[in-house]
Amino acid sequence: MNQLSLKNINKTYGNGVKAIEGVNLEISNGMFGLLGPNGAGKSSLMKTIAGLQSPDSGSITLNGTDIVTDTDFIKQQLGFLPQDFGVYPKISAYDLLNHLATLKGVVNKAARKEQVLALLDKVNLYQHRNKEVYTFSGGMRQRFGIAQALLGNPQLIIVDEPTAGLDPEERNRFNNLLSEIGEDIIIILSTHLVEDVKNLCTNMAVMHQGKVIAQGKPSHFVDSLAGAVWKKTIDKKERAEYEQHFSIISTQLTEGKLSIHVYADKRPDSHFEVLTPTLEDYYFFIMNQQKLAA
Ligand code: ADP
Repeated sequence: MNQLSLKNINKTYGNGVKAIEGVNLEISNGMFGLLGPNGAGKSSLMKTIAGLQSPDSGSITLNGTDIVTDTDFIKQQLGFLPQDFGVYPKISAYDLLNHLATLKGVVNKAARKEQVLALLDKVNLYQHRNKEVYTFSGGMRQRFGIAQALLGNPQLIIVDEPTAGLDPEERNRFNNLLSEIGEDIIIILSTHLVEDVKNLCTNMAVMHQGKVIAQGKPSHFVDSLAGAVWKKTIDKKERAEYEQHFSIISTQLTEGKLSIHVYADKRPDSHFEVLTPTLEDYYFFIMNQQKLAA
């Protein structure tokens, strides 16, 4: 079992932005979702774990080894699929992966060939292995990105907003691939899509303004709201009035009517029906709490 431990991580950029503030996280095998709105600090945290930037203070260990100081260790153990894996040269998928494998330290030629072909097969690009990667669709590029992240059998994989820009079918395929590989290693999925975390992750954390504001199992978070989420369909014009009187979690427009989700200990009025809460409800609920506390 792998264990990644972050203790009291802080990072302030040169422009004064406090991107990470007092972050503590314990992550073991399986898929871990890091959720938060844009600007919450997710990318900053992922880059810090990947060793692309150092924290100002705090410690990060993987299986007991300090990865902030031992940068060679993290390079060996880590596969990273950044948000902007922007290099798509005019060489074939096979050649590019082979080249990246060499950089990763897979020196034995025969072993490298075997690994490269096995990975192309795993991400369903085997039949496209001789095509130049710049001709690939968004989904194919992301799957290629996963193949390069898996080079050298890393124990930790970080994927940053991997499904941004993919169409629903490509996104589904990509997510299936992630969940297949996520059992025996740590995969951290950084995203603003609650649905991806709900479908894929066994553990998660929520970030807001540089801080981790919740950490645990998605099912546990959802259960914590049982019996406290209520739904009512109202007229669009009534919105302001309801916002004044109720703790609204979310609103959704359907067929010109507004469906509202409200947080309340007991049924607010006889027209409200109780809902089985979802992870979306939980996410909006704690985001609203942050706004109220601010
Ligand atoms: P997220 O990935 O959750 O969208 P980021 O980590 O990208 O969040 O950004 C967190 C905050 O840090 C934002 O306010 C962003 O503008 C700022 N930021 C990110 N990278 C840099 C940088 N290299 N220099 C200065 N500020 C940055």
